[in-house]
Amino acid sequence: MRIDDIMAAKQSFSFEIFPPKGDLPVDQATEIAHELADCHPDWISVTFSAGGSGNSSATAAIAGRIQSAGKTNALAHLTCMGSTKADVDAYIAQLKELGVENVLALRGDHGPGREIRDFAYAKDLIAYLKDSGLCIGAACYPEGHVECQDFTTSIEHLKQKQDAGADFLVSQLFFDNEYFYRFREACDRARVKLPISVGIMPFTSVKQIQRMSFTCGASIPSAVIKRLVAAGDDPEAQRQAGVEYACEQLVDLAANGVDGLHIYTMNRPSVAEAVHDALVTCGYLAE
Ligand code: FAD
Repeated sequence: MRIDDIMAAKQSFSFEIFPPKGDLPVDQATEIAHELADCHPDWISVTFSAGGSGNSSATAAIAGRIQSAGKTNALAHLTCMGSTKADVDAYIAQLKELGVENVLALRGDHGPGREIRDFAYAKDLIAYLKDSGLCIGAACYPEGHVECQDFTTSIEHLKQKQDAGADFLVSQLFFDNEYFYRFREACDRARVKLPISVGIMPFTSVKQIQRMSFTCGASIPSAVIKRLVAAGDDPEAQRQAGVEYACEQLVDLAANGVDGLHIYTMNRPSVAEAVHDALVTCGYLAE
Protein backbone atom coordinates (compact mmCIF):
# COMPACT_ATOMS: atom_id res chain seq x y z
CA MET A 1 0.00 0.00 0.00
CA ARG A 2 1.17 3.57 -0.65
CA ILE A 3 2.24 5.53 2.43
CA ASP A 4 0.44 8.71 1.34
CA ASP A 5 -2.82 6.71 1.30
CA ILE A 6 -2.07 5.30 4.77
CA MET A 7 -1.31 8.75 6.19
CA ALA A 8 -4.43 10.25 4.63
CA ALA A 9 -6.50 7.66 6.51
CA LYS A 10 -4.89 7.54 9.97
CA GLN A 11 -2.03 8.52 12.28
CA SER A 12 0.72 6.16 11.19
CA PHE A 13 3.20 4.03 13.14
CA SER A 14 6.36 2.74 11.50
CA PHE A 15 9.84 1.37 12.08
CA GLU A 16 13.26 1.76 10.45
CA ILE A 17 15.94 -0.88 10.11
CA PHE A 18 19.40 -0.77 8.59
CA PRO A 19 20.81 -3.77 6.72
CA PRO A 20 23.64 -5.25 8.79
CA LYS A 21 27.02 -5.81 7.21
CA GLY A 22 28.35 -9.34 6.86
CA ASP A 23 27.89 -12.46 4.82
CA LEU A 24 24.13 -12.80 5.18
CA PRO A 25 22.85 -9.23 5.35
CA VAL A 26 19.56 -9.91 3.63
CA ASP A 27 18.67 -12.92 5.77
CA GLN A 28 19.60 -11.21 9.05
CA ALA A 29 17.73 -8.03 8.28
CA THR A 30 14.71 -9.93 6.99
CA GLU A 31 14.54 -11.86 10.24
CA ILE A 32 14.59 -8.61 12.24
CA ALA A 33 11.95 -7.10 9.96
CA HIS A 34 9.66 -10.09 10.45
CA GLU A 35 9.97 -9.75 14.24
CA LEU A 36 9.20 -6.02 14.01
CA ALA A 37 6.16 -6.75 11.82
CA ASP A 38 4.58 -8.57 14.80
CA CYS A 39 3.98 -5.09 16.32
CA HIS A 40 1.78 -4.28 13.29
CA PRO A 41 3.59 -1.20 11.96
CA ASP A 42 2.07 0.48 8.90
CA TRP A 43 5.45 0.20 7.21
CA ILE A 44 9.09 -0.69 7.79
CA SER A 45 11.74 1.44 6.12
CA VAL A 46 15.11 0.08 5.05
CA THR A 47 18.11 2.42 4.92
CA PHE A 48 20.44 2.78 1.95
CA SER A 49 24.16 3.22 2.29
CA ALA A 50 25.92 4.65 -0.72
CA GLY A 51 29.64 4.43 -1.30
CA GLY A 52 31.51 2.12 0.97
CA SER A 53 29.60 0.27 3.65
CA GLY A 54 28.35 -2.15 1.03
CA ASN A 55 24.73 -2.62 2.02
CA SER A 56 22.95 -0.60 -0.67
CA SER A 57 22.38 -3.64 -2.86
CA ALA A 58 20.64 -5.31 0.08
CA THR A 59 18.13 -2.49 0.56
CA ALA A 60 15.85 -3.37 -2.35
CA ALA A 61 16.07 -7.08 -1.61
CA ILE A 62 15.11 -6.63 2.06
CA ALA A 63 12.31 -4.20 1.17
CA GLY A 64 11.04 -6.75 -1.35
CA ARG A 65 10.95 -9.48 1.27
CA ILE A 66 9.11 -7.24 3.75
CA GLN A 67 6.54 -6.41 1.08
CA SER A 68 6.07 -9.96 -0.15
CA ALA A 69 5.62 -11.33 3.40
CA GLY A 70 2.30 -9.47 3.37
CA LYS A 71 2.37 -8.35 7.04
CA THR A 72 3.24 -4.71 6.42
CA ASN A 73 4.50 -2.32 3.74
CA ALA A 74 8.08 -1.55 2.77
CA LEU A 75 9.71 1.85 2.31
CA ALA A 76 13.05 1.60 0.47
CA HIS A 77 15.52 4.45 1.01
CA LEU A 78 17.56 5.77 -1.91
CA THR A 79 20.41 8.32 -1.81
CA CYS A 80 21.40 10.15 -5.00
CA MET A 81 24.79 11.69 -4.19
CA GLY A 82 27.27 9.98 -6.50
CA SER A 83 24.50 8.35 -8.56
CA THR A 84 23.64 8.70 -12.21
CA LYS A 85 20.17 8.63 -13.73
CA ALA A 86 20.97 5.13 -15.00
CA ASP A 87 21.75 3.96 -11.42
CA VAL A 88 18.42 5.35 -10.22
CA ASP A 89 16.54 3.81 -13.15
CA ALA A 90 17.99 0.38 -12.33
CA TYR A 91 17.09 0.68 -8.63
CA ILE A 92 13.52 1.81 -9.37
CA ALA A 93 13.04 -1.05 -11.83
CA GLN A 94 14.21 -3.45 -9.12
CA LEU A 95 11.76 -2.01 -6.56
CA LYS A 96 8.87 -2.29 -9.00
CA GLU A 97 9.75 -5.88 -9.86
CA LEU A 98 9.74 -6.68 -6.12
CA GLY A 99 6.36 -4.99 -5.58
CA VAL A 100 7.74 -2.14 -3.42
CA GLU A 101 5.56 0.96 -3.85
CA ASN A 102 7.34 3.47 -1.56
CA VAL A 103 10.74 5.15 -1.81
CA LEU A 104 12.43 7.69 0.50
CA ALA A 105 14.34 10.06 -1.80
CA LEU A 106 17.50 11.42 -0.15
CA ARG A 107 20.70 13.15 -1.11
CA GLY A 108 22.94 11.24 1.29
CA ASP A 109 25.97 12.55 3.13
CA HIS A 110 29.32 13.66 1.73
CA GLY A 111 32.01 11.00 1.63
CA PRO A 112 34.54 9.23 -0.59
CA GLY A 113 33.07 8.30 -3.99
CA ARG A 114 30.04 10.51 -3.49
CA GLU A 115 30.80 13.45 -5.73
CA ILE A 116 27.75 15.04 -7.32
CA ARG A 117 26.84 13.46 -10.65
CA ASP A 118 23.28 13.75 -12.01
CA PHE A 119 21.61 14.98 -8.80
CA ALA A 120 22.80 17.85 -6.57
CA TYR A 121 19.99 17.76 -4.03
CA ALA A 122 17.21 15.44 -2.93
CA LYS A 123 14.70 17.73 -4.63
CA ASP A 124 16.32 16.85 -7.99
CA LEU A 125 15.89 13.14 -7.29
CA ILE A 126 12.28 13.71 -6.22
CA ALA A 127 11.51 15.57 -9.46
CA TYR A 128 13.17 12.77 -11.45
CA LEU A 129 11.11 10.10 -9.65
CA LYS A 130 7.83 11.97 -9.93
CA ASP A 131 6.63 10.04 -12.99
CA SER A 132 7.80 6.67 -11.66
CA GLY A 133 4.42 5.87 -10.15
CA LEU A 134 6.04 5.27 -6.76
CA CYS A 135 4.96 7.06 -3.59
CA ILE A 136 7.84 9.42 -2.72
CA GLY A 137 8.93 10.36 0.78
CA ALA A 138 11.52 12.98 1.73
CA ALA A 139 13.53 13.85 4.83
CA CYS A 140 12.82 16.90 7.00
CA TYR A 141 14.76 18.45 9.87
CA PRO A 142 13.01 19.84 12.97
CA GLU A 143 16.22 21.59 14.09
CA GLY A 144 17.25 22.51 10.52
CA HIS A 145 19.70 20.44 8.45
CA VAL A 146 23.17 20.24 10.01
CA GLU A 147 24.86 21.82 6.95
CA CYS A 148 22.33 24.64 6.71
CA GLN A 149 23.23 27.52 9.03
CA ASP A 150 19.79 29.11 8.96
CA PHE A 151 16.48 27.50 10.07
CA THR A 152 14.36 29.60 7.68
CA THR A 153 16.50 28.54 4.71
CA SER A 154 16.19 24.91 5.76
CA ILE A 155 12.38 25.29 5.65
CA GLU A 156 12.65 26.90 2.19
CA HIS A 157 14.64 23.89 0.99
CA LEU A 158 11.96 21.63 2.45
CA LYS A 159 9.28 23.53 0.51
CA GLN A 160 11.28 22.79 -2.66
CA LYS A 161 10.92 19.06 -1.94
CA GLN A 162 7.14 19.46 -1.70
CA ASP A 163 7.09 21.50 -4.93
CA ALA A 164 9.21 18.84 -6.69
CA GLY A 165 6.55 16.24 -5.91
CA ALA A 166 7.21 14.58 -2.54
CA ASP A 167 4.15 12.83 -1.10
CA PHE A 168 5.10 12.64 2.60
CA LEU A 169 7.91 13.48 5.02
CA VAL A 170 9.87 11.58 7.64
CA SER A 171 11.71 13.66 10.22
CA GLN A 172 15.24 13.54 11.51
CA LEU A 173 15.49 12.40 15.12
CA PHE A 174 15.41 14.94 17.95
CA PHE A 175 15.43 14.68 21.74
CA ASP A 176 13.37 17.74 22.63
CA ASN A 177 9.79 17.76 21.31
CA GLU A 178 9.61 21.55 21.49
CA TYR A 179 11.85 21.66 18.41
CA PHE A 180 9.28 19.61 16.51
CA TYR A 181 6.34 21.79 17.57
CA ARG A 182 8.26 24.92 16.50
CA PHE A 183 9.12 23.21 13.19
CA ARG A 184 5.49 22.20 12.60
CA GLU A 185 4.40 25.83 13.02
CA ALA A 186 7.13 26.99 10.63
CA CYS A 187 5.93 24.43 8.06
CA ASP A 188 2.38 25.78 8.39
CA ARG A 189 3.61 29.33 7.81
CA ALA A 190 5.69 28.24 4.79
CA ARG A 191 2.75 26.23 3.39
CA VAL A 192 4.52 22.92 3.68
CA LYS A 193 1.42 20.76 3.88
CA LEU A 194 2.79 17.24 3.49
CA PRO A 195 2.02 14.77 6.27
CA ILE A 196 5.01 14.30 8.59
CA SER A 197 5.97 11.05 10.22
CA VAL A 198 8.01 12.04 13.27
CA GLY A 199 11.28 10.15 13.70
CA ILE A 200 12.33 9.21 17.23
CA MET A 201 15.42 7.21 18.18
CA PRO A 202 15.88 5.65 21.60
CA PHE A 203 19.47 6.40 22.53
CA THR A 204 21.50 3.36 23.58
CA SER A 205 24.59 4.82 25.27
CA VAL A 206 26.45 8.04 26.01
CA LYS A 207 28.84 7.40 23.10
CA GLN A 208 26.04 6.69 20.65
CA ILE A 209 24.00 9.81 21.49
CA GLN A 210 27.14 11.97 21.22
CA ARG A 211 27.90 10.49 17.79
CA MET A 212 24.31 10.94 16.58
CA SER A 213 24.20 14.46 17.87
CA PHE A 214 27.33 15.43 15.93
CA THR A 215 26.25 13.56 12.79
CA CYS A 216 22.79 15.04 12.52
CA GLY A 217 22.92 18.16 14.69
CA ALA A 218 20.31 17.06 17.26
CA SER A 219 20.50 18.98 20.54
CA ILE A 220 20.89 16.95 23.73
CA PRO A 221 18.66 18.46 26.44
CA SER A 222 19.62 18.44 30.10
CA ALA A 223 16.77 15.99 30.79
CA VAL A 224 18.65 13.38 28.70
CA ILE A 225 22.01 14.17 30.30
CA LYS A 226 20.52 13.77 33.78
CA ARG A 227 19.11 10.34 32.89
CA LEU A 228 22.46 9.22 31.52
CA VAL A 229 24.28 10.50 34.59
CA ALA A 230 21.83 8.55 36.77
CA ALA A 231 22.48 5.43 34.67
CA GLY A 232 26.21 5.72 35.40
CA ASP A 233 28.57 3.30 33.64
CA ASP A 234 26.03 0.49 33.41
CA PRO A 235 25.40 -0.18 29.67
CA GLU A 236 22.05 -1.83 30.35
CA ALA A 237 20.88 1.09 32.52
CA GLN A 238 21.89 3.52 29.73
CA ARG A 239 19.92 1.51 27.15
CA GLN A 240 16.92 1.34 29.47
CA ALA A 241 17.07 5.11 30.03
CA GLY A 242 17.02 5.61 26.25
CA VAL A 243 13.95 3.45 25.71
CA GLU A 244 12.07 5.09 28.60
CA TYR A 245 12.92 8.59 27.37
CA ALA A 246 11.85 7.75 23.80
CA CYS A 247 8.54 6.34 25.07
CA GLU A 248 7.88 9.59 26.96
CA GLN A 249 8.68 11.62 23.83
CA LEU A 250 6.34 9.45 21.75
CA VAL A 251 3.45 9.65 24.22
CA ASP A 252 3.76 13.46 24.28
CA LEU A 253 3.88 13.63 20.45
CA ALA A 254 0.83 11.36 20.23
CA ALA A 255 -1.05 13.66 22.62
CA ASN A 256 -0.10 16.60 20.41
CA GLY A 257 -1.75 15.17 17.31
CA VAL A 258 1.19 14.31 15.06
CA ASP A 259 0.53 12.74 11.64
CA GLY A 260 2.67 9.71 12.32
CA LEU A 261 5.38 8.21 14.53
CA HIS A 262 8.48 6.59 13.05
CA ILE A 263 10.85 4.67 15.31
CA TYR A 264 14.54 4.27 14.56
CA THR A 265 14.67 0.80 16.11
CA MET A 266 18.45 0.33 15.84
CA ASN A 267 17.51 -3.20 14.67
CA ARG A 268 16.29 -4.15 18.15
CA PRO A 269 12.84 -5.80 18.27
CA SER A 270 12.79 -5.26 22.07
CA VAL A 271 12.79 -1.49 21.43
CA ALA A 272 9.90 -1.88 19.00
CA GLU A 273 7.91 -3.86 21.56
CA ALA A 274 8.52 -1.31 24.33
CA VAL A 275 7.38 1.66 22.23
CA HIS A 276 4.45 -0.32 20.85
CA ASP A 277 3.27 -1.09 24.41
CA ALA A 278 3.66 2.57 25.48
CA LEU A 279 1.61 3.71 22.49
CA VAL A 280 -1.12 1.15 23.18
CA THR A 281 -1.28 2.31 26.81
CA CYS A 282 -1.68 5.96 25.80
CA GLY A 283 -4.36 5.06 23.22
CA TYR A 284 -2.39 6.04 20.05
CA LEU A 285 -2.41 2.41 18.90
CA ALA A 286 -5.17 -0.15 19.20
CA GLU A 287 -4.25 -3.29 21.16
P1 FAD B 1 18.89 17.68 0.64
O1 FAD B 1 17.44 18.01 0.74
O2 FAD B 1 19.48 17.68 -0.73
O3 FAD B 1 19.67 18.67 1.60
C1 FAD B 1 21.08 18.58 1.76
C2 FAD B 1 21.63 19.96 2.12
O4 FAD B 1 21.48 20.83 0.99
C3 FAD B 1 20.86 20.65 3.25
O5 FAD B 1 21.77 21.40 4.02
C4 FAD B 1 19.89 21.56 2.54
O6 FAD B 1 19.51 22.66 3.36
C5 FAD B 1 20.71 21.98 1.32
N1 FAD B 1 19.89 22.30 0.16
C6 FAD B 1 18.76 21.65 -0.25
N2 FAD B 1 18.26 22.26 -1.35
C7 FAD B 1 19.12 23.30 -1.64
C8 FAD B 1 19.14 24.27 -2.66
N3 FAD B 1 18.21 24.35 -3.60
N4 FAD B 1 20.16 25.19 -2.66
C9 FAD B 1 21.13 25.14 -1.70
N5 FAD B 1 21.14 24.22 -0.70
C10 FAD B 1 20.15 23.31 -0.68
N6 FAD B 1 21.42 8.82 4.70
C11 FAD B 1 21.84 7.71 4.05
O7 FAD B 1 22.99 7.67 3.56
N7 FAD B 1 21.04 6.60 3.91
C12 FAD B 1 19.77 6.56 4.39
O8 FAD B 1 19.07 5.56 4.25
C13 FAD B 1 19.28 7.72 5.09
N8 FAD B 1 18.02 7.76 5.59
C14 FAD B 1 17.56 8.91 6.18
C15 FAD B 1 16.23 8.95 6.64
C16 FAD B 1 15.73 10.10 7.25
C17 FAD B 1 14.30 10.12 7.72
C18 FAD B 1 16.57 11.24 7.41
C19 FAD B 1 16.05 12.47 8.09
C20 FAD B 1 17.88 11.21 6.97
C21 FAD B 1 18.39 10.06 6.34
N9 FAD B 1 19.69 9.99 5.85
C22 FAD B 1 20.15 8.86 5.22
C23 FAD B 1 20.61 11.13 6.03
C24 FAD B 1 20.54 12.10 4.84
O9 FAD B 1 21.05 11.49 3.68
C25 FAD B 1 21.34 13.34 5.24
O10 FAD B 1 20.67 14.06 6.23
C26 FAD B 1 21.79 14.25 4.11
O11 FAD B 1 22.80 15.11 4.62
C27 FAD B 1 20.69 15.15 3.55
O12 FAD B 1 19.77 14.45 2.86
P2 FAD B 1 18.49 15.20 2.22
O13 FAD B 1 17.79 14.19 1.43
O14 FAD B 1 17.71 15.93 3.25
O15 FAD B 1 19.25 16.26 1.26
